[in-house]
Amino acid sequence: MPHPSVVAAGIVARSKTLRRLVLLAVLAVALAGGAIVTPLVALPLAIAAHGTPAVQPGTIDGRTPVVVGEWGYPLAGDYTKGRGFGFHPVKGCSYCPADHKGYDMSQGCGAAIFAAGPGTVTTAGSMGQFGNSVVVDHGDGIQTIYAHLEWGSIAVEKTQQVSAGTRLGAEGTTGLSWGCHLHFELRIDGARLDPAPFMAARGLPLA
Ligand SMILES: [Zn+2]
Repeated sequence: MPHPSVVAAGIVARSKTLRRLVLLAVLAVALAGGAIVTPLVALPLAIAAHGTPAVQPGTIDGRTPVVVGEWGYPLAGDYTKGRGFGFHPVKGCSYCPADHKGYDMSQGCGAAIFAAGPGTVTTAGSMGQFGNSVVVDHGDGIQTIYAHLEWGSIAVEKTQQVSAGTRLGAEGTTGLSWGCHLHFELRIDGARLDPAPFMAARGLPLA
């Protein structure tokens, strides 16, 4: 004895009129569903257009960052520049250090963060005020640090080899942070230096 739905499908398949009716019913359901789903989809899009875009870790349009030779941007596509390197007090944040030892850039919570150059991951986890962070050792005393990453987003492990464009995690606001952003830091022989001229020298000017 065939299942009733199989019998029904057989009848539908044999009848032209029934096939049309089923098609109409499917269309009606799709249209009714669309009317409900569309506002739900439109709302986040409207928020994204006016505020912080909500994106899933590493899935911001599946984009990859611009890479020039061995180095690339730590974010894919346009970003908002936050605090640059040097003396930049944070308005409304008394506990944030005024002397800023990195370069802040942002696309919104959850945006993918990428390694800027080839090297070995030496830290992948919590780093005090830096929050969830990844440190990449590029050799020749050069290190880059990616700080304030989103909880649970770190996608690499200690001792892992990475290259420019390897996804490290997602933009967050962990540690001593004031809103979602990437704190991108450069250290050469332990000294904390401005990443902007370093990146510009590699054909990657930071805006
Ligand atoms: Zn910073």
